[in-house]
Amino acid sequence: MVVCRIMMNYSNFSMPYCIQASKPGDSSVLIKKEFVLEIPKANEIVIKNERIGINFIDIYIRKGIYPWPVESNNMNLVLGSEGAGVIEKIGSEVTKFKIGDRVAFLKTNGAYTSHRTIEQELVVHIPDFISFDKAAAVMLKGLTVKYLLNDSYKIKGHETVLFHASAGGVGLIAGQWLKSLGIKTIGTAGTDEKCSLAKQHGYEHVINYNKEDFQKVVMDLTNGEGVDVVFDSVGQTTMSGSFGCLKKHGTLISFGQSSGVYTDLKISDLQAGSFFLSRPTLFHFIPIPGWLDNATAILFKMIKENKMDIQYNNTYDLENLGQAHDEIENRRTTGSVILKV
Ligand code: NDP
Repeated sequence: MVVCRIMMNYSNFSMPYCIQASKPGDSSVLIKKEFVLEIPKANEIVIKNERIGINFIDIYIRKGIYPWPVESNNMNLVLGSEGAGVIEKIGSEVTKFKIGDRVAFLKTNGAYTSHRTIEQELVVHIPDFISFDKAAAVMLKGLTVKYLLNDSYKIKGHETVLFHASAGGVGLIAGQWLKSLGIKTIGTAGTDEKCSLAKQHGYEHVINYNKEDFQKVVMDLTNGEGVDVVFDSVGQTTMSGSFGCLKKHGTLISFGQSSGVYTDLKISDLQAGSFFLSRPTLFHFIPIPGWLDNATAILFKMIKENKMDIQYNNTYDLENLGQAHDEIENRRTTGSVILKV
């Protein structure tokens, strides 16, 4: 009996592991590696990940569109920017958390792992009404929508808005958030099915930009006036049309480039309508003292009040990360994509 128990324990034991890449490239660069967990530094926490969110930024970095952020000669990089799980260890100066707490974290890179060691400032508690699946599906994307609508551009309530890629992870959350603010939002998406899904998530009109000239449709829908603000995360294929959809003094918030980097911009292009342009990133808001806790509280309140249905239709095992990246990159997903550890 004793032998049997020991063997059972042994068979259940598995080393911490991560999925890492040793160079930029396609999804085949993503390789599983076991590692030895180090003791956390004074200000650090070790989280046993339950779920990990995939974000398009992970794909930009994997492909080399964003710089490969590895300081040493060792090129190995663990991608992934968010996850949710249970605290397993804490450093000697950690005051906000204890072992066993349910938490989520946000930080560029390092998330595609069974165990994440991270500074306490980048971690938040998850309330009981939010499952690990939901936390991994909503944290980074929901906080992105929070800063886009409140901090990067301040929605006042009277605006007309165009939001591209409206059936994606960020897009479905944005449609519902904008609707809760009373905003009439036009969305775009790449198939008719995606357009219907976006319409069920707060958008008033959704244009299939693979079939129709979205700029022309937006101008028709706004009686030739254009919209007050465009949120463009698609980049290369949409940016020029996005400028063409703006009212005089309108604002273009460029926050991604899923179709490729837009390189044709000249400052003088803004003169066409005295336009405002911003290229923000969530990771410049997170370090602002108090921002993360405040923004997370607002996001969780919206979920508690059922103002948001969080879609995570695509769940993969962490070991199948490459397949998940391929599905997102090839535009075959809607809503958020999460990994099970
Ligand atoms: P999505 O789930 O929205 O996936 C990206 C979508 O972009 C696709 O589903 C697709 O929708 C659309 N797309 C258009 N052209 C292409 C193309 N050529 N190749 C691939 N996709 C294309 O991703 P996320 O929700 O993770 O992120 C949405 C965007 O927001 C990304 O660009 C991301 O980088 C950006 N982002 C920026 C942040 C910031 O702080 N700056 C933070 C978080 C996200 P369709 O088929 O309908 O066109």
